[in-house]
Amino acid sequence: MPGQQGNGTLAMKILVPVKRVVDYNVKVRVKSDGTGIETAGVKMSMNPFDEIAIEEAVRLKEKGVATEIVAISMGVPQCAETIRTALAMGADRGILVETDVALQPLAVAKMLAAIARKEEPRLILMGKQAIDDDMNATGQMLAALLGWSQGTFASKITIEGDTATVVREVDGGLETVSIDLPAIVTTDLRLNEPRYASLPNIMKARKKPIENVKPADLGVDPAPRLIFLKVTEPPKRVAGVKVRTVAELVAKLKTEAKVI
Ligand code: AMP
Repeated sequence: MPGQQGNGTLAMKILVPVKRVVDYNVKVRVKSDGTGIETAGVKMSMNPFDEIAIEEAVRLKEKGVATEIVAISMGVPQCAETIRTALAMGADRGILVETDVALQPLAVAKMLAAIARKEEPRLILMGKQAIDDDMNATGQMLAALLGWSQGTFASKITIEGDTATVVREVDGGLETVSIDLPAIVTTDLRLNEPRYASLPNIMKARKKPIENVKPADLGVDPAPRLIFLKVTEPPKRVAGVKVRTVAELVAKLKTEAKVI
């Protein structure tokens, strides 16, 4: 049986995909030819939702629920740095899928499915979305490709035996679902506050192994399927006006904004 340990208890391996994205503090600039955003010379970091996923996996390991955490990143060779950050936070080993192709969710999901079939994890914990292109698609596609249960936008995860209870952030409030493992769970902002890696752990992470594979090794053609027509800056916000009296405000709302 997948994940069975020698002592008869289930080994809980967790895969955590971590994407290298423009750091959330950086003001994103659109390339002058409108083909995308500027990444040259820009600070890159782990996608914040993936940091939350790593943190949750590490907490599950600290509680004795998880036995191994594998961080996976796909893209240019520098994605290895993102994996090192995950290793410094507490992941055990990494897999880098190296490619210069601009990856889209379906290609990422297919490659994650291939890795999942080989690694046989009981849980894949990943971000609900990458903050660069806000696709919010990879987790759902992966669940469909593997035929596994999914709990998306998680703000609380409890694992008991072969079941995960996931509290989901939905429009009207919180929804609690119970799903069978193996499963995909995607993280929302309120799940936890990720830790900073300590210096000793950063040093230790240097010795942890990172396996290097190519999309072809996983039997996947990562060529893009979506064509981006154009990327533009949002319209500049216009300055507000100060009104002196309530009557003036009401008049403006009636005649200019036409909202009352
Ligand atoms: P998205 O569907 O692109 O918004 O991304 C959702 C999640 O999929 C991210 O938070 C990551 O966990 C994972 N993911 C997407 N692209 C990559 C990538 N290139 N490498 C590793 N993980 C990725």
